[in-house]
Amino acid sequence: MVARDGDGWIDCDCGNRHWGKNGAAGLLIIRDGSVLMQHRAPWVHNGDTWGIPGGARDSHESVTEGAIREAIEETGIDPHYVTPLSIFEDDHGNWRYDTVIAQGSAELVAHEVNDESHEVRWIAIDEVDSQLLHPSFGATWPDVRKLIATLLS
Ligand SMILES: [Zn+2]
Repeated sequence: MVARDGDGWIDCDCGNRHWGKNGAAGLLIIRDGSVLMQHRAPWVHNGDTWGIPGGARDSHESVTEGAIREAIEETGIDPHYVTPLSIFEDDHGNWRYDTVIAQGSAELVAHEVNDESHEVRWIAIDEVDSQLLHPSFGATWPDVRKLIATLLS
């Protein structure tokens, strides 16, 4: 077990405060025109919203490693059923959030495994906009969606 050294707040160049000393990463799994999303519990930061599994990245991790680790912790996925396709980089200067876009195979099963999320669901790409989205996810979703479209075309 390698030390977890990513937890902590960063006062970002953009004027906001973000979680993750080395930046953060999330895993966006697509399958059959849907995205695996998780509903965050009401009592966590920006709770009661929909987002993707993710969190603070450790210094020894690649973006993809961090995103997949968080997704395993939060949704119990088996990484053997996930194939990374591309990374959407949201670089704020002294902090960054990387969204790893991946293809999920038919065998992939996800379910809530910790207290931070109380529901995990496949949501059609066209219907993501009609959910109450986590603000950070919502801000990048239009660009992420465009990238997904190019990957699937
Ligand atoms: Zn920022």
